[in-house]
Amino acid sequence: MRLSRYFMPILKENPKEAEIVSHRLMLRAGMIRQQSQGIYSWLPLGKRVLDKVNAIIRDEQNRAGAIELSMPTLQSAELWQESGRYDAYGKEMLRIKDRQDRPMLYGPTNEEMVTDIFRSSVKSYKDLPLNLYHIQLKFRDEIRPRFGTMRSREFMMKDAYSFDLTREGAEHSYNKMFAAYLRTFDRLGLRAIPMRADTGPIGGKLSHEFIILADTGESEVFCHKDFVDFDIPGAHTDFDSVEGLQAIFDKWTSLYAATSEMHDEAAFNAVPEGDRLSARGIEVGHIFYFGTKYSEPMGAKVQGPDGKEHFVHMGSYGIGPTRLVPAIIEASHDDNGIIWPASVAPFDIVVINMKAGDQACDATCELIYAALTKAGKDVLYDDTDDRAGTKFATADLIGVPVQIIAGPRAVANGEVEVKDRKTGARETMTIEAAINRFVA
Ligand code: ATP
Ligand code: MG
Repeated sequence: MRLSRYFMPILKENPKEAEIVSHRLMLRAGMIRQQSQGIYSWLPLGKRVLDKVNAIIRDEQNRAGAIELSMPTLQSAELWQESGRYDAYGKEMLRIKDRQDRPMLYGPTNEEMVTDIFRSSVKSYKDLPLNLYHIQLKFRDEIRPRFGTMRSREFMMKDAYSFDLTREGAEHSYNKMFAAYLRTFDRLGLRAIPMRADTGPIGGKLSHEFIILADTGESEVFCHKDFVDFDIPGAHTDFDSVEGLQAIFDKWTSLYAATSEMHDEAAFNAVPEGDRLSARGIEVGHIFYFGTKYSEPMGAKVQGPDGKEHFVHMGSYGIGPTRLVPAIIEASHDDNGIIWPASVAPFDIVVINMKAGDQACDATCELIYAALTKAGKDVLYDDTDDRAGTKFATADLIGVPVQIIAGPRAVANGEVEVKDRKTGARETMTIEAAINRFVA
C-alpha cells in the first residue's frame, strides 16, 4: 500500500475526549472515528487490525471444532418472549418497530436465535455435540459508553453456542472453549487469566471471565501471581480428549482468581502474601455453561440413545474483538505510539522514503516494496513528500513492527536502515540483506 494513495487520517494533536491511552492512540493513528455516542466507524488502518484479530479468533474456534455461520443483527421480539428475556433484559436492549408495527430488537446476544436454528433442524443425539459461532455486531445501550471501542454501544462479538446431550458432554464443550480462549489471547500477544465469574443476565451454572491485567481496566480482580507464567496449551492439543482438556481446565483453575463480584476475601488471604496479585483488569472474553435454561422454555430437545427426548445442555462463549484491539494497545505501547504484536499488526513492514523525488531513494524504495510485497508481506510504503521527522513520528505512532528507512546518504552506499519498532534498535545493511531478512 502506497501511503500517498491510502486513507490514514493521522491527528497531530491529542484528542481531548480520550481518557485512556488506547483511545487516544486509536484516534491519533486514524483507526476509528466516533459517529455518535458509543458508535464507531473502523477506518482502514483499524479495520486491518480488527480483521487480523478476527482471523486468529476464527482459526482457534475452528481448531476447537466450532462451526461458523452468520446470524442477523436484527431479531424478532417473539423469540425473546419465548425465553422470557424480552421483559427481563432492561434498557440495554434497543427495541425497534418495523413498518407493520412488529416489535424487533437489535441483538445484544444470540442465545434465543441460535436455539431456534438448532430446534428447527437437530433432532437426534447423533448430531451432537454441536458448537455454532459467528462474529457479528451487537448493540447494548450501555449507560456509560466510554474509552472508545473498549466500551461502546455497538460492538463486535464472537459468540459461540454449544449443544450437548448431557451435562458431562457440555462440560467437555466448555473446556474446549476454555482452551481455545487461552490459545487465542496468547496469539494476540496477551496474557489473559480465567477468573470465576458471576453468570449475570445470561444466567447459568459455570462461568469464567478472561481478564487482561491493565491499570485502566474497569474490573477489580484478585489472583495468584503464578498465572502470569502458566504454559499455554500447544497447537497440537487434542480437543477430542476429555481427560486432556479437563487437565488444562483443572490446572488453570487450581489457583485463586476472581473478579470483585465473586471475590472471597478469606480464600484470597489464604494465598501467601507475596503471591497475591490484586489489580485492575479488562474483560476480553466470557464463557458460560447454563444447562437447559433456554432449551426448556424454547423446546430444544433431541432424541437420546434411550429413545426418549431430552432438553439439550447449552453453553455460550463470547469474545469482544472491538474491545481486544484497544486492550492490545493498553498492553503494548510507548510514548511514541502503538507497538503491535506481529500477529495483528496492520502492516508487517513500513518502507520510509526519506526523500521522495530523489531518483536513487525512489528506485531503492520501489525495489524493496515490490520484493517484499511479492513475498507476501503486507507493506506500507511511505512515498509522501512529508518531512523525514513527520514520517518517523507517523511510523512510530501506527506501530508497524519493522521500519525500513531509505535516506540519500545510505542509499548512495547501496544501504538502508532497518529499525525494530519495539526495541528501537537500528541496523544499517545492504538493500539486498534488508530484503532477504524478511523474504527468507
Ligand atoms: P462488561 O461486564 O464489560 O459490560 P459483559 O459481561 O456484559 O461485559 P458479555 O455479555 O460477557 O459482556 O460479552 C462477551 C464479551 O463481549 C465481553 O467479554 C467483552 O469482550 C465484549 N463486550 C461486552 N460488552 C461490550 C461493550 N459494551 N463494548 C465492547 N465490547 C463488549
Ligand atoms: Mg461478561
